[in-house]
Amino acid sequence: MLKLKMYIDGKWKESISKKTQDVINPATGEVIAKAASGNAEDARIAIETARKTFDSGIWSEMPNSERASFLFKIADKIEEISEELIRLETLDNGKTFRESGYDVSDAAECFRYYAGLITKMDGQTYSASETIQTIVIHEPVGVCGLIVPWNHPFLMCAWKIAPALAAGNTIVFKPSEMTPITATKLFEIIEEVGIPDGVANLVMGPGREVGNEISTNSLVDQISLIGGTNTGRQIMKAASENITNISLELGGKSPNIIFSDADFETAVDYALYGIYFGSGQVCSAGSRILVEESICQEFTEKFIERAKQIRVGTGDNPDSEMGPLVSHQHMESVLNYIEIGKEEGAHLACGGYRLEENGLDSGYFIAPTVFTHVTPEMRIVREEIFGPVAVIQSFKDEKEAIYLANHTKYGLAGSVFTNDSAKALRVIKKVRAGITYINTYHQGFVQAPWGGYKQSGIGRGLGTFGLQEFQETKQININLQVEPVGWFEN
Ligand code: NAD
Repeated sequence: MLKLKMYIDGKWKESISKKTQDVINPATGEVIAKAASGNAEDARIAIETARKTFDSGIWSEMPNSERASFLFKIADKIEEISEELIRLETLDNGKTFRESGYDVSDAAECFRYYAGLITKMDGQTYSASETIQTIVIHEPVGVCGLIVPWNHPFLMCAWKIAPALAAGNTIVFKPSEMTPITATKLFEIIEEVGIPDGVANLVMGPGREVGNEISTNSLVDQISLIGGTNTGRQIMKAASENITNISLELGGKSPNIIFSDADFETAVDYALYGIYFGSGQVCSAGSRILVEESICQEFTEKFIERAKQIRVGTGDNPDSEMGPLVSHQHMESVLNYIEIGKEEGAHLACGGYRLEENGLDSGYFIAPTVFTHVTPEMRIVREEIFGPVAVIQSFKDEKEAIYLANHTKYGLAGSVFTNDSAKALRVIKKVRAGITYINTYHQGFVQAPWGGYKQSGIGRGLGTFGLQEFQETKQININLQVEPVGWFEN
C-alpha cells in the first residue's frame, strides 16, 4: 500500500492532524494508497514557507536560464520514469494506458516548453516623450496557490507548475483529494533535480479546508484553479477579500456542429472521440452534438452503432478503449443525470446503465450513452454531466446551429464539421468559446492558449498567455534630462 506525504519546505510530512484519506482504484474499488489529508493549518505553514522563500530571492532572482535548467531536468526525468507514471495514473484515475501515455508525454513537453520560453520572453521599451524612456518588464507574481482536479491529474500538475516555476514564483500546490499519486511523484522529481527547499510545496486535503485557506490567505498573490464552475465561484468570492489575482479554468458543455456537407465518416468518428475520450470526463468534451436535419437520422444511427462497439474495460487492459469513471460518487452523479434525462422526456437511445459484466462489477463503469429528442431547456442539455453521455440535437440551418451552440452558460470549446471552408470559419467565429476546432476535436497543444468564455472561466493557461498568468508587469520611466520639473513656481 502506497503512503503519500505532503512536501513542505523540502521535507516530506504527514498532516498535523495525522489524518489520511483513502485513494481508490476506480476500476476495482480497492484502496491503493493512504494520502496525508491536510487542513488549513498545514496549508498555512506551506504558504508561509512559500512566502519566505519567494522573498529570499533564491528562486525569483535566479537567472532565467538557470531556472530553466531545472525544468529541463524535470522533463527528462518524467520521460525516464514515464512507464511508472503511466501505470500509476491509470491505477489512480482509471483512464486507459493510452490516455495516460498522452498525458505523461504532454506533461514532459509542457515543462520543456516553459523552460525554453522563459529564456526568450522580453519586455518592451517606448520612447513616448523626448525626455522619458519607458521600459516594461515582467516579474514573478509571488506566491502562487495552484489547485487542480482529478480528470488529468499529472498533466494538470504540469500545466500549472511549469509556467509558475518558470516565471520565478514559489508555489503551494493542491491536487484533487481523489488523485494525489502522480502529483507526489512529480514532487519527488522536483526534490531530485534540486529545486531549492520551499520553492515548491505540496499540500493534500479537502478543497473546503486546504483550498479555502489558499484562497483566503493574504500571503498568496495568485490563485489558479482548474476545476468546476461552482468551485470557481467560491474561489472568486474568497479571493475578493484580499483582491488576490485569480485565473479560473472551469467547466463546459461544448457544442459539436455537424453540417450535411461534412465528411460523414470523419464527423461520426470525431464526434465519438469528442464525447467518449476520457469517459467523457474532459472539460472540453463535445457533449452536445448538433447535426443538420437532413443527415441527423443517418448520423444518429451510425453514431449509436459505433458507440455500442466501444470496448469499455479496465485501463490496464490494452484492449480497453474507455475506462471507468473516477469514483463511486461521480458514477452515481452521472447515473442520476441519466435518470433526469429520462424524466425530462428525452429518448435514451443507447447505454444509460452501469456495466457490471466481465469482472467490471466492482469498478465504476458506465456504458457509452446517447440521448436524442432533447430540447435546449432540459438539464441534460444545459448542465455539465462530465461522463460518457452525449445529447444529439438537430438544426435547420446555419443560424439555428449558431443559436443552439451558444445557448449555454458555458463557453469552453466548440467545433464545426463541414467541407465548406468559408462556412466553417464563419460559424466558428460566431461560437462563443475559447477552444475551437474545424473538422477535428480534442487537439490541444502547449503553445496555444487554453480557457473559456462566459462561465467556463477567466484568463488563459498555456502558451505565452500561460506564462503571463504568473507574471506581474511593471513600467519603469527613466528621466533622460535630470533637472527640476518646474511645475510649481520656485
Ligand atoms: P472541483 O471543482 O470539485 O475540484 C477541483 C479542485 O478544487 C480540487 O482540488 C478540489 O479539492 C478543489 N476545491 C474544491 N472546493 C474548493 C474550494 N471551496 N476552495 C478551493 N478549492 C476547492 O472539480 P473536479 O470535480 O475535481 O473536476 C471536474 C471539473 O473540473 C469539471 O467541471 C471540469 O470541467 C473542470 N475542468 C476544467 C478544465 C479546464 O481546463 N477548463 C480542465 C479539467 C477539468
